[in-house]
Parts: sequence; structure tokens; C-alpha cells
Amino acid sequence: MNKTVEQIKEILETETKKALSTCTDQEIYLALLKMVEKESEARKTPVKGRKLYYISAEFLIGKLLSNNLINLGLYDPVKAVLEAAGKKMSDIEEVEPEPSLGNGGLGRLAACFLDSLATLNLPGDGVGLRYHYGLFHQSFQGGVQNELPDPWLSEHSWAEKTDTVYPVELAGRTYQARLYKLAVTGYEGRTNTLNLFDLDTIDETIVHDGILFDKTKIDKNLTLFLYPDDSDEAGRRLRIYQQYLMVSAGAQLILEESVARGCKLHDLADYAAIQINDTHPSMVIPELIRLLAKKGIKFKEAVKIVTDTCAYTNHTILAEALEKWPREYLDDVVPQLMPVIEELDQLARSRSKDEKLAIIDKDDRVHMAHMDIHFTHSTNGVAALHTEILKESELHGFYELYPEKFNNKTNGITFRRWLMECDPLLTEALEKWIGTGFKKDSNELEKLLAYENDEKVLEELTRIKKENKQALADWLWETQKVKISTDALYDIQSKRLHEYKRQQLNLLYLIHQYYEIKAGHLPAAPMVSIFGAKAAPAYIIAKDIIHALLTVSKVIAADPEVSRWLQVVFVENYNVTAAEKMIPACDLSEQISLASKEASGTGNMKFMLNGALTLGTMDGANVEISEQVGSDNIYIFGQTSDQVIHRYEAADYCAKQWYEGDPNIRRAVDFLIGDEMMNVGQKENLTRLHHELISKDWFQTLPDFNAYVVRKGQALADYAVNPVGWRKKCLVNIAKAGMFSSDRTIAQYNEEIWHLGK
Ligand SMILES: *Cc1c(COP(=O)(O)O)cnc(C)c1O
Repeated sequence: MNKTVEQIKEILETETKKALSTCTDQEIYLALLKMVEKESEARKTPVKGRKLYYISAEFLIGKLLSNNLINLGLYDPVKAVLEAAGKKMSDIEEVEPEPSLGNGGLGRLAACFLDSLATLNLPGDGVGLRYHYGLFHQSFQGGVQNELPDPWLSEHSWAEKTDTVYPVELAGRTYQARLYKLAVTGYEGRTNTLNLFDLDTIDETIVHDGILFDKTKIDKNLTLFLYPDDSDEAGRRLRIYQQYLMVSAGAQLILEESVARGCKLHDLADYAAIQINDTHPSMVIPELIRLLAKKGIKFKEAVKIVTDTCAYTNHTILAEALEKWPREYLDDVVPQLMPVIEELDQLARSRSKDEKLAIIDKDDRVHMAHMDIHFTHSTNGVAALHTEILKESELHGFYELYPEKFNNKTNGITFRRWLMECDPLLTEALEKWIGTGFKKDSNELEKLLAYENDEKVLEELTRIKKENKQALADWLWETQKVKISTDALYDIQSKRLHEYKRQQLNLLYLIHQYYEIKAGHLPAAPMVSIFGAKAAPAYIIAKDIIHALLTVSKVIAADPEVSRWLQVVFVENYNVTAAEKMIPACDLSEQISLASKEASGTGNMKFMLNGALTLGTMDGANVEISEQVGSDNIYIFGQTSDQVIHRYEAADYCAKQWYEGDPNIRRAVDFLIGDEMMNVGQKENLTRLHHELISKDWFQTLPDFNAYVVRKGQALADYAVNPVGWRKKCLVNIAKAGMFSSDRTIAQYNEEIWHLGK
């Protein structure tokens, strides 16, 4: 079935109508796109039995060309054809814009899940929105984050326009949601679909001055941006408009497809499984009940059908992130849903008298997660610790009411993108040592343990890491004109910017090191400290942390004594493309969230798989990583989640005491408002961050500071003093990464929640 080099050459030249050697990169890219579309279409198979619909506000899918070529088994022959024509695969990859359909871990998880579903030959489609400009494109100017639209749609993109439109009623007006279909290829598997909805009336010209636009012009703005600024009421209402467009069009699609396959509506759960990814798609529950009622199904039965069909994934224990909408907004935007939501609230109240479990609270706010837990058959957390915390504290009342609904599904990542595509050198070496089985059976990576004491293998791992560092250094030079040494430990913290993820703890470490180096206490090895992170446009303190990091970077770079040992680099516009360059080059992976706050993390898994060691707290999936590799092969520090939870309950944390009681902490924090920083940075931002750290510090940076400095120093010393020992630890991390394949995660969802057909 696989195509030969000659066949591929012919297909491409038929498409371009000339010799490949005379084509532009753009022409070749388009010809490849056409070829991939045809090949993936051929792998669509009719569905029997239950089919999954994964509804999510985000799908952070990354560039698709190479990923699809790998999955279709075409990558190597295509590369050969291009090379024979004097073209480079990497130049062709550059032509493709990264789809701006997601933001962080939750969206990337959805993308990994689609890959694994197709790879495991399971029928599972995505449902989401076709954003034109994504979250935003980030650049740094004058030491602050600058936000611009992130356009990716062009005449030829992977999402194909269809003739299908569904009417969606918003605030009494009918909008037409148009369906676009994007093919999702599996590795040696079937092709599924990502269904994306959009309006034909979107007007990109209303965006001005960065990412500003009139939030009330719904027909023009609805799918312009992901997570539009919700710091004002119009923004919050806009989010409801978006969510309802997604779930109403999605519900219509699901019913239509199911009926076409023979579903009689009463038996919907035999045809469809719906996974609600976080609370953004929660309105699919009342919307389906409403649509079923319109077809003559009684409320009580509709509730049962929907409960049997839907399942919910919880992604956070941060209370402020659990969506609760003022009822007034829903009354205005989706009045047709409110009678259903009210009946659901009554039903929920008949099951439990506990006011904390109600859907509509006494302040007339609608709790989306509560609706999900009452009216789906499964609520899952995304790592073992996270699920335990949900059961024991955050959602304890619900757990007592519905113990059978709660279950854990530890997140995972697809090894096709996060190993085969992003680290071809490591992939090739692994094939040589342990064969190719690990690509489809991730546990086969354990075979690598046989080489733990094989010097040749360890040397090869060192050489690969060095080449990947060089590639990252070259990329940083090309894209940002930043020069970094490759003779240093690469320490990377890349993820959304959030106080709970504690980039500010890393910031304080860098300041501490600055002082230590100035005092002649030199570190064991030079270090390049690399960040990648977008801050939500309205999140002031997050932006102050970015500013402080950019400023520290300049202060250090200007000091020849310090810059020999320490360099701080902030990668602009962190996205999947950047992640694929950064992760294979990393030595030390920073996973330093305040214990109990990171639900799982998936960045931690990607770094591990690419042979980086984790410096982290006992949080999220770090706990499971640590169980897999053993305490000798990971650098753990800081308070435990139990300690943190108790401290929150007692409400006795006082940042000021830590600041005043510890000269090292005081020195690092006060540096923010000292002359070195003030001369380079902005007084307002630095002062605000300084004040935040000593007066609030919600995420308890200061109590973990000393433990963090010590543990990081140990890692640096191990790296410098015992390189063979270090590389052995890396080998163990790669070998033990098997359980973090999203193939394992999806197999568990299927066995325990979905029970999909073939
Ligand atoms: C994996 C990934 C994330 C999630 O990272 P965490 O460290 O788990 O928060 C965010 N953004 C991108 C681009 C990713 O690839």
C-alpha cells in the first residue's frame, strides 16, 4: 500500500505541472497538501457502533504536514524525492503556518487524543471552533509582551469548507454555523475528522490596535479569537456566544450523523459518546436535552439519554477557573436553554439537599461543572494525585453522592509528534537499539534499560543531545537573533504563564545565582535558562513576571562576570512549533508548580521522553513520573500537596514572615526594585511584582525557595561532575516514559468510559 519514491515524484509533478527542482517551496507544500488529503481520505472507514465526539474549545494541533506524512508512512520517501530535487524538508515545513486553534496543555491534550484515537483505529472525531486569530501572536518589545493577531487561514489550509450549515439561535437571532472538516490521520491507522465551526460573516478588518475589536458585533467577531478578554461584561458574554455556537452546531451534527447510521434517538448512547473537555462545552447537556424534547422525547428520558451519552473531564482545581456564569447572561444569550437548566437544577436539588452541589446557586450563578457531574455518567481527573484531590477535597460532596462516577485517566502525549517528529536523531538511535515496536507499543521503550551501562549508548545519547542543542541555538539565532552557547546545561521552563506554575520561583533563583556568581561562588557548570510562555492579555501579574524575566536577562547579559555562567533567554510566541525545537535540546525540565495546583501537566512527559531530567514538585503527573523512574532519577523538592492543602485550610500563610525571616529570600526579592533592575526595566511593573510577592504570594513561592535552590544546585553539580551518571539517568527517563503515551490513555478511556465500535 505504501507509495514508492517514483510514484510520489509523479504525483507531485502532475500536481505542480513542472519539475520539482524548478518549484518554489510554496508550490511543493501545496502539492504535498493535496497528496496528503487524498491519501488520508482513502483511509476513512465507515463506523459501526458507538462513535466518540470529543468537544473542546481548543485543539492545539501544531503544524500538520510532517505529522501527516509520518502517520501515512510517506515521510521518508517524500524526503528522498525532495532531496533528489535539491529541496529541503525543513524549508517546506517553514511554509506552513501553525494552526491557531489552541492555547496550552488542555488543547494539546485534545490534539494528542485525536492522534491516538486514529492510531488505535477507534472512531473518534473532534468538535470545536475555527478561530481565525487564535489566542494572539506574542512578541517582546521594550521588555513587555506585545499582542498581535495570529493569522493562519489561507486559501489552502487543512480545514476544508463544507456545504453543511446548522442554524444556531443566539440572543434571539439565528446564525448559520458552517462546518469545516480537517482530516486527522492515525499512525498506520484510520482517518478521523476534526469538525470546526465558523460563521461566513466574520470580518477580520474590525480588529485594530493589536487585538482590540468591538465585542458586541457578534456576527463579525464570534470566532476571531480564542478566549477573548473577559475582564469586561461584553467579553464574558462573548465567551458564552462562542460556547453555545460550538455545542449547538456540534449537537446537531452528532444527532444528524447518528440518525443517518440508524439511531432512533432513544438509543443515542449506542451510537454516540460525547466527552466534555473541561467546562467550556458544558452547555451541550441542556442543548441535547432541548433538541431531544423537540423530537418528542420526555424530559426525564432525555436526561437519561444525555447522561448515558456524555462524560466530563475536569482539568483544574483552581476554584476561580471553574466556570460559573451569572444567570442574567444566559437569560440574554441562550434563553432557550434556561428552562432546561432550571429543571436540571430542580432535579439536582432533589438528589441532594447540599446547597454546594446545586447548579444555580443563591446568587443566581450557573455552575457548569456541577451540571457536568450531575448529568454525565463519568467525571475524570487527569492524573492520580489530581483525581484523589477531587475526590477528597475539591469535589468531595459530589464524590459522596456519586462515587461510581469518579475515575482517573492520567494524561499522555503522542509519541509520533513528541518523539518521532521532533527528535529524529533519538528515534533513529532507538530503532537501532530496541527495534521499531515502541512506536505503537510504548512500553517497549523499557528494552532500553538493557543498555544502562553501555558506554557507547550513553555517549550516543550525549552526542544526540548536543546536536539538538545546536539545532535549537541555530533556530534561536535565525528567529530571534539570540546567540546561546551549546556548552552549557539547558534548563527549560515552557508552559502558559501562571502564578501557580511559578515562573517567579525560577526568576528568584536566577537573581540568587547572580548574587552568588558576583560573590565568587561559581556554579558547577554554565547554564542557559530558557523560557517560553504567553500571559493572558488581561493577567497583569503574569505580564509583570515576563517583564522581570526579560529585565533580569538583560542585566545578566550586560555583566561579563555573570554571563559567562548564566544566560537567560525568553523564546517568543511559545507554541507547538517552538516546543518541538526546545524539548529535544533540554537537559533539565522545570515542573515547579505549587504542589496540588497542576492537575497533570503534559510538558513534563514530553521532556522526559526526550531525555531531560525533571526538577519538580510532587504535583500532577510528576508524582507518577517519579514513581516510574525512582527517586535517583528525578530532582524533587518543596512542600507536599497535603502540606499545601492544610496551609490553605488554616489560612496561616504569611509571605511577609518568610521575606523578613530569611536574608536569602529578602535579597532576591528586593533585587526586583534595586538599581540594577530599575535602570533597565519599568518601575511600575517591578514594584507591583515585588509588592505581590511580599504581601500575597498566593502560590507560596517563598517557602519553597531554599529547597529549590539546593536541589537545582545538586542537578547542576551532577551534570558537571558525573556526566556518565547523568546520562544514565536520562536513559532511565526515556525507558520509563512508556506509560505516558496517549495511546495508553485513550485505551483506558475506551475500556472504562467510551466502549467505542470499530
Ligand atoms: C505540551 C504543551 C503545553 C502544556 O505544557 P505544561 O507544561 O503541561 O503546562 C503548553 N503549550 C504547548 C505549546 C505544548 O506543546
